[in-house]
Amino acid sequence: MLLMQDNTQFVPVENPNMQEKRTKAATISLSERLGTYNEIETTYSKDEAENEADRCLKCPTHWCQKMCPAGVPVTDFIAALRAGNPEEAYRLIRTASAFPEFCSRVCPKERQCQSNCTRSINSEAVSISRLERFVTETHYASGNGEPATPPTNLPEAGDHRGAECAPSKKSGKKVAVIGSGPSGLAAAQFLTDYGHSVTVYEKDDRPGGLLEYGIPNMKLEKGVVARKIDSLKNQGVEFVLNTAVGKDVSPEELKGSFDAVVLAVGTRNARMISAENMADAKGVYTAVEYLTQTTKTLLDGGDMAGRSISAAGKNVVIVGGGDTGNDCVGTAIRDGALSVTQIEMLPKHRKTFEVETPRMDPLPDEPHSTSQEEAKVKFSEDPHVYETTVKAVEKDASGNVAAVTVIDLEARYDAYRVSMSEVPGTERTIPCDMLLIAAGFTGPEKAVTEAFGVSVNERTNIIVGGSVPYMTDVDKVFACGDCHTGQSLVCRTMTDARECAKAVHGYLSE
Ligand SMILES: Cc1cc2nc3c(=O)[nH]c(=O)nc-3n(C[C@H](O)[C@H](O)[C@H](O)COP(=O)(O)OP(=O)(O)OC[C@H]3O[C@@H](n4cnc5c(N)ncnc54)[C@H](O)[C@@H]3O)c2cc1C
Ligand code: SF4
Repeated sequence: MLLMQDNTQFVPVENPNMQEKRTKAATISLSERLGTYNEIETTYSKDEAENEADRCLKCPTHWCQKMCPAGVPVTDFIAALRAGNPEEAYRLIRTASAFPEFCSRVCPKERQCQSNCTRSINSEAVSISRLERFVTETHYASGNGEPATPPTNLPEAGDHRGAECAPSKKSGKKVAVIGSGPSGLAAAQFLTDYGHSVTVYEKDDRPGGLLEYGIPNMKLEKGVVARKIDSLKNQGVEFVLNTAVGKDVSPEELKGSFDAVVLAVGTRNARMISAENMADAKGVYTAVEYLTQTTKTLLDGGDMAGRSISAAGKNVVIVGGGDTGNDCVGTAIRDGALSVTQIEMLPKHRKTFEVETPRMDPLPDEPHSTSQEEAKVKFSEDPHVYETTVKAVEKDASGNVAAVTVIDLEARYDAYRVSMSEVPGTERTIPCDMLLIAAGFTGPEKAVTEAFGVSVNERTNIIVGGSVPYMTDVDKVFACGDCHTGQSLVCRTMTDARECAKAVHGYLSE
């Protein structure tokens, strides 16, 4: 008899679906999707979801749950779905996650929950994110809204809240959350779950942070963000928009009016490159500037081709081969760019290091990106150029960027790290009318950290966790998400906010 970790007997799934390939969902043709900025992925139908749920073996190791940063009880929610109870499946997911509607769309699941699925040893991993999306969409379609069944007597390791947190129980405590990105929204959700009253301050005109103005509509339709905001409002969360804390509202005012303040302001300082002649060149933008204007224009029903930062008819060069750069590729293609080149400093196949016993392993190939696939169809080639950087910018007589000089880089590995150095004589010029910088972010804006007087580390991220977990060195001021961890992922930042909410709840309960 095989025992589970909790000493209960392991009961194998009866007649699992041993189909090797994961269940395909209806797809939108490539030509159709390149003609719009609409979401690319679709939600499983009921039959498709049931077929895919039957592929889960409910194996006792729960690698999927261990590899999910939030610890979503994957096998249990799939079992509930298989048993014909999608609402119970949703309740189980919500014990660990504030917003499966976002994670199921934007998580790099091939590096997280699906990476170690037992089925992937001999066939394709179970499509966990699609099942999660189906469950969540079914929940919303049922009209249940939030909160789901009060989370009492939660059975799973994913349970962060405990039996005391029935949403109906009001604590009488008030919390201000600064920033409405995934960490701010997750903090608001979990603090509301604990029974506290939450007000979210956001300096932008719309809530959502990078969920709204960053991640493009093709990956996450903005109606999905608006739906979650409405749900939070229905649960009593107040949103104060167009209000920069530190400028429009003082920290003292907030500390005087609220029992706790949570900073969830993200890392918005874009990391720039130091190319010659770039500083005053026109036509150089950060990725977030470009993606934000795209989304604003879309949502406001504006003229996409006529917007000031459009790639239409331009030779676009993107610095940064990661996910943000990929989002710029997909958007530039839809804008009607003449060409797209994506410059990445690091090698395509690089090595990873184990610090204690120096060892180098090749990393697997980069994860599949729909933008790369689209670029291959549109321009017949992968836009990525590896081991290269932009050395200088050439301007025309009006100061607009006209071309960039790039140079090859060479990787040198020592026992612990890789360093890149220029290869002399490899300089070449490529046409460029629009240069997008997608090279990452460094720390939260100084205006916030200085106004609150909180300490930051050498990377300018907010330091937390003295005697009270997640509290900064300023009394009753907490911090979570990217502003404290550094640039991260939606699921990770949501999980960080969950743990922060737990700490705030503990502090308020003293
Ligand atoms: C282009 C792009 C694509 C991405 N794609 C993915 C993806 O596919 N999958 C994934 O998992 N992750 C992705 N990420 C990463 C993910 O979006 C971030 O890790 C996450 O949004 C960080 O959440 P956050 O709440 O900490 O910060 P943010 O989302 O940055 O939110 C911070 C909020 O605080 C507000 N704020 C700042 N200062 C103040 C102030 N003084 N007063 C009031 N409000 C303030 C900001 O306006 C903002 O709304 C992407 C990031 C980018 C840039
Ligand atoms: S939250 Fe993300 S990593 Fe976790 S199960 Fe869902 S899709 Fe997978």
